[in-house]
Amino acid sequence: MEPTEAKMYDMLKRPLRDLRISVTDRCNFRCHYCMPAELFGPDYSFLKKADLLSFEELNRLVVLFHQAANLEKLRITGGEPLMRKDLDKLIQMLSESTGIEDIAMTTNGVLLPKFAASLKKAGLKRVTVSLDSLDSIRFGEINGRGVGIEPVLEGMEAAKEVGLDIKVNMVVQKGMNDEDIIPMARFFREKGYILRFIEYMDVGTTNGWRFDEVLTKKEIIARIDEEMPLEVIEPNYSGEVATRFRYKGSKDEIGVISSVSDAFCGTCNRARLSVEGKLYTCLFAEKGFDFRELLRSGATDEEIKSALFGYWQKRDDRYSEERSEKPSKNRPKIEMSHIGG
Ligand code: SAM
Ligand code: SF4
Ligand code: SF4
Repeated sequence: MEPTEAKMYDMLKRPLRDLRISVTDRCNFRCHYCMPAELFGPDYSFLKKADLLSFEELNRLVVLFHQAANLEKLRITGGEPLMRKDLDKLIQMLSESTGIEDIAMTTNGVLLPKFAASLKKAGLKRVTVSLDSLDSIRFGEINGRGVGIEPVLEGMEAAKEVGLDIKVNMVVQKGMNDEDIIPMARFFREKGYILRFIEYMDVGTTNGWRFDEVLTKKEIIARIDEEMPLEVIEPNYSGEVATRFRYKGSKDEIGVISSVSDAFCGTCNRARLSVEGKLYTCLFAEKGFDFRELLRSGATDEEIKSALFGYWQKRDDRYSEERSEKPSKNRPKIEMSHIGG
């Protein structure tokens, strides 16, 4: 059967709207919650070039996914996406061939001074820059490479200068950087960037996640509210992952992504395309659908669209909700650095 947009819903009646594309499994950081240096050391074997989807392959897949699902958003991620050579060329290809306006990227920011201008020219609209502390020593410990905050702030400046929209992501881990919540909130309120606090998640299997290291949305908000009173604001659109808050009496905004304490699987309209062309329908998935194999076996456009259609139709993922219902679950999961956040 020919895939049609009206029928592209999963088992829980969720459409596919947001595609996250991982363009590399490599990174210049070793954040302990994502790619701990002990495990991703000098001997770690990253994927070889032939294993990665080429830009042409990626572009073809995204165009077909867009035809099948009517995507609204693309987000480029990784690993560190700016480590993929000629990324601006990929962004230009995707922007021109799909016409999708909302193309964003998540990055640790340090390479933005070098690439912000060409990325903006290629069609990138927004960047989310990850920064977990304003204390350079602590930030250096978290990123596992001793990199202070200056290069990241310079990256944000470079993005601002060329007119990219900027948001900031802070992963909050109890006992690690929770005392940075207030300084971060004040600093980015002043800068005029939306700061989003992310609950520390049990992605992958290598970060040794423990529930008692999670500071929940409620706790994060209570701490800020005590200093700077907050009120909840409506989501911008259905499926928005961050709960939005405003500092009372102003338009300044923050967000909290509460994947652990307050799951939002019911409206999850995202899929993740890994760097080697596997499609994952959940951040916590064990397995993905191998589109690289399909592409390289000479499949037609219709076959590829039908495969996406069939795979999405069977999707019933709701890992975060299940985690709340049955917290002791322990199962293999794909690493975050493989499929992006
Ligand atoms: N390297 C880029 C960066 O750090 O922004 C993009 C990829 S990174 C995997 C995407 C996002 O996932 C980052 O904001 C990162 O902080 C977040 N992240 C990684 N591991 C996480 C974890 N265990 N819990 C919550 N967020 C995590
Ligand atoms: Fe690299 Fe981003 Fe993972 Fe940190 S969170 S190790 S910057 S991919
Ligand atoms: Fe979506 Fe999976 Fe996260 Fe639920 S746990 S919101 S299904 S990615």
